[in-house]
Amino acid sequence: MTKSSTLVVNEAAANADTRFVAPDLVALDAKGAPRLIGGRCRKCNAVSFPRAAVCANCLSEDIETIELAHEGTLYSYSIVHQAPKGWTVPYALGYVDLPDNVRVLAHLDAPADKITVNMPMRLSVGVVGADPAGAPLLSYTFTPV
Ligand SMILES: [Zn+2]
Repeated sequence: MTKSSTLVVNEAAANADTRFVAPDLVALDAKGAPRLIGGRCRKCNAVSFPRAAVCANCLSEDIETIELAHEGTLYSYSIVHQAPKGWTVPYALGYVDLPDNVRVLAHLDAPADKITVNMPMRLSVGVVGADPAGAPLLSYTFTPV
């Protein structure tokens, strides 16, 4: 299990010229490293990402916010050729299984020919496109270890 911690939620991103696509899902720790923000049910310990308001396992609404593990294993992936306006295509999109017993959907920051199922992956931050003004859009991503 990953311990809860105090995170500096997007302070660096808020102060930078860049911004996160989904700012509620990622935070930067004191060293500026990205951390995914999930939830853990206080009744049954089920972990969710994004943090669920209601536990899918036991229907409890007592969900604590936790920091998820930052390394996992690639479960599966696909190459995406159509995306919202401003996003850079093509890109690899994959499911990464974390030791927290949760599966995370994320951009994969690697060339398609370097990606294989079951490879170890590490959480990172990458530029996934640009906003209408041309400023880079950031997202949590996973890169091969
Ligand atoms: Zn539960």
